[in-house]
Amino acid sequence: MPSTLFKKVWDLHTVRTLPNGQTQLFVGLHLIHEVTSPQAFDMLRARGLGVKHPERTVATVDHIVPTRDQRRPFGDVMAEDMLAALEKNVRGSGVPMFDLHSGAQGIVHVIGPELGLTQPGMTIACGDSHTSTHGAFGAVAFGIGTSQVRDVLASQCLAMDPVKVRRIRVTGHLMPGVFAKDVILEIIRRLGVNGGVGFAYEYAGDTIERMSMDERMTICNMSIEGGARVGYVNPDQVTIDYLRGKKYAPQGEDFDTASAWWLSLASDAQAAFDDEVRIDAAAIRPRVTWGINPGQSVFVDETLPRPADVPSAERAAITEALDFMGFGAGAPIKGTKIDVAFVGSCTNARLSDLREAARVVRGHRVATHVQALVVPGSQAVRAAAEREGLDRVFTEAGFEWRGAGCSMCLAMNQDKLEGRQICASSSNRNFKGRQGSPTGRTLLMSPAMVAAAAVAGEVVDVRDFAQYGD
Ligand code: SF4
Repeated sequence: MPSTLFKKVWDLHTVRTLPNGQTQLFVGLHLIHEVTSPQAFDMLRARGLGVKHPERTVATVDHIVPTRDQRRPFGDVMAEDMLAALEKNVRGSGVPMFDLHSGAQGIVHVIGPELGLTQPGMTIACGDSHTSTHGAFGAVAFGIGTSQVRDVLASQCLAMDPVKVRRIRVTGHLMPGVFAKDVILEIIRRLGVNGGVGFAYEYAGDTIERMSMDERMTICNMSIEGGARVGYVNPDQVTIDYLRGKKYAPQGEDFDTASAWWLSLASDAQAAFDDEVRIDAAAIRPRVTWGINPGQSVFVDETLPRPADVPSAERAAITEALDFMGFGAGAPIKGTKIDVAFVGSCTNARLSDLREAARVVRGHRVATHVQALVVPGSQAVRAAAEREGLDRVFTEAGFEWRGAGCSMCLAMNQDKLEGRQICASSSNRNFKGRQGSPTGRTLLMSPAMVAAAAVAGEVVDVRDFAQYGD
């Protein structure tokens, strides 16, 4: 029977069907960090249990790490306690950890792929919503809650409900200055922030096939913002080329054997999907969110919606968002003044993202009223960027060049908006209070658009700002 990748991977990891109809699913790789694991370890200890498969568990520290001064103990006592708890837990259980001294620390969804821990055909779980990122490799990867982290630590299994599969076919060539971030923001706008509930999203089509692994990760990362718990891309030669030589990927002949198996997991040509959506890549222009969820975005040359012009069911949400943001109905998004520019997060803080931002910034200065920061996704990204001199491009332009971590994506460290500040951000969520100030405002966009906004001091169309060849 022709089958989807999702079904193949799901079936391969099914232990049994539970009496309540759920599937007991084996988890190939469990990624843990300092925020959602301490309580889970406490629950484990309370029941006298240990970590079932420490060799299938990997820890790092990302959410709370300071990005300016990382000397221990941290100035923030709560952050220090959380890291100390993680260190104690992994020491006691034999779980490998990529800490601040490892040279490999970073955001959990950045380091998994770059170390080759993330591989096609795996089931991957992590106590973090954006675990869907790993689906870019053809893995079935999902975020889990703290009690599920406990379950996976104790048993390496999860009780899960299977989901349907929607294929999202993106076809055609993206215009220069339009990026993976614009594609996923367009998908979420089209299908809605709840449109993916109950679905895994399979991203397909020639646009996706031409994308690098970094770009595919950006797309899969934000699946959860569209309501889908899982998002994936079928493994292909791009996937194989990315993984070859990665530290924790199979080596030598084992790699060739694994590659053949990985490719065989791709959805079959005749596979049936529960739903199918088509997106025309050529029609996508740079997108910017204007509201309080990632579905509320416009093309940069568009104006904000008018509550009076939308169906009555949508009116209250749009009015609430406009009120919170302090934006006028029908106003252009272009020209919106910003206070902070943030290039970072597991969506867009990989080396290619930093290169695109640096390309825009090179030879310019950050506007005097803007605080601009670049927070690489990992220590490895930071080191690679420094080898290319990107740090100098940013600092000479007036950006702050920080240590790796989640930083202002969630503001669990000192990097926070203040008051009503508006932040042009390459992250993934623009919820109220997301960046540390209850009244702070977030405009999501691509890293290149953030860089252009930092220099202009306001939202601009990066295509007017930087030279893009055909
Ligand atoms: S960068 Fe943001 S979304 Fe990603 S793991 Fe960190 S806090 Fe979560």
